[in-house]
Amino acid sequence: MRNSRKLQKIKEIVNSVRWHEVKEEAIELLRKLIRIDTTNPPGNEREAAELLSKYFSEYGVESQIVESEPQRSSVIANLKGKKDLKPLILLSHLDVVPANPSEWRFPPFSGEIKDGYIWGRGAIDCKGLAVVEAVAMNLIKRAGIKPDRGIKFISVADEEMGGEKGAKYVVENLDIDGFGVLNEGGTGVVLGNRKIYMPCFGEKGPLWLRIKAKGKPGHASMPHKDNPNLILIQALYKILKSDLGRKLSDGFIRSAKFYLIDNKKSLSGLKIFFSLVEKSDFAKEILGKALSSLFYMLNKNKLSAMFSNTLSVTIMKSGYKENVIPEEADAVLDIRILPGYDHDELIEKMRKIVDDPRVSFEIISVYEPSQSDPVSDFMMMLKEATSAVFPSTFFPILATGFTDSRFFRKKGIPAYGFLPFFLTDEDLSTMHGIDERISIENIELGLKLMLAIILHICTEENSLPGL
Ligand SMILES: [Zn+2]
Repeated sequence: MRNSRKLQKIKEIVNSVRWHEVKEEAIELLRKLIRIDTTNPPGNEREAAELLSKYFSEYGVESQIVESEPQRSSVIANLKGKKDLKPLILLSHLDVVPANPSEWRFPPFSGEIKDGYIWGRGAIDCKGLAVVEAVAMNLIKRAGIKPDRGIKFISVADEEMGGEKGAKYVVENLDIDGFGVLNEGGTGVVLGNRKIYMPCFGEKGPLWLRIKAKGKPGHASMPHKDNPNLILIQALYKILKSDLGRKLSDGFIRSAKFYLIDNKKSLSGLKIFFSLVEKSDFAKEILGKALSSLFYMLNKNKLSAMFSNTLSVTIMKSGYKENVIPEEADAVLDIRILPGYDHDELIEKMRKIVDDPRVSFEIISVYEPSQSDPVSDFMMMLKEATSAVFPSTFFPILATGFTDSRFFRKKGIPAYGFLPFFLTDEDLSTMHGIDERISIENIELGLKLMLAIILHICTEENSLPGL
């Protein structure tokens, strides 16, 4: 393995940290952060940004708070590198989605510790990540390690509402450049009794679309064919029945070939197979269809969505009186588009499928799918650093949700999603759900992984202290 001496050194440094104390420090910081209610809307991230800024300043790490508007604050901290290299960017967000206290076991902004977990909205998404990144970065400073490459911590406002007042503002208004971004998105997962690192190299693009049916109003006692509710139902039925595009993306093939198949003699046949598939759009579509249908049948919706353009009807509005046929009806669709598809072409396709002049399509918002190279130096270092702490299968995937990473990719900075935890299905369901929590075990693992990742990406072997 390349870098084996360096990785051995990193392992020794990670093992030499007094984790019991550092873990307590991280837990306290996370509890404080959870107790600051940054539900978005409205966000009000200022107090949270100040808490992190103060934490950095206690250890002599310089930081600044930037505001896109009053109270919409993001915090940026810098640890300079010895060399003129682009920094590693550690990204996270300060805002959280709403939580209904009556459904929770503990109040969502309490930061309660119980059963080995820290409970609260944001414990995983994304205050847990912010804390692990901040504490690991501070550890570098405290250990007196002078990294060759700088480290830039950015925790932003407004991610949960699209990022206009957070990441987008920061990327567009500050002179941000980087070697690569480490953000939320992928994670380590627990599947049965196996643990697998599944960072993400890209994400689908969301298209929020309003479909409006115009008809004729009238008395409900005299049904007619121009009832907008019927027009809308028929249009939606046709769209839902159709195939909006399914395929194996090039990123998936590249990732599978490199991380799962390469160097495994027993799988050499599979490698040849993927090399053939890579050259044929037809084969990619056939396989995409097969896999998305198979996973859908098995109720593995997330896996199915990795190979298909998906559609969910999220809002329907129509009517105002029991006995009146209204004049219009509309529905909102949340469509998630794979890399390699174009949203205009997709809308055109739907228009043709519906084939009804009484139905119109209006874009509410759209973001293109975005991805970085799954087999980059950055990703290789992520793989090596994680395996130095806890060796396990490493398989980068395409995320079905979207994150702030897209703003950085648009600027040409590679961005990868990786929560340095091993999360079960149940853990994952609490993000944006009820009883969000993170285990203390995961906090410790996250700190170790993050420290190893920073050391591997930002220091050369001879800059690492001997023990
Ligand atoms: Zn998040």
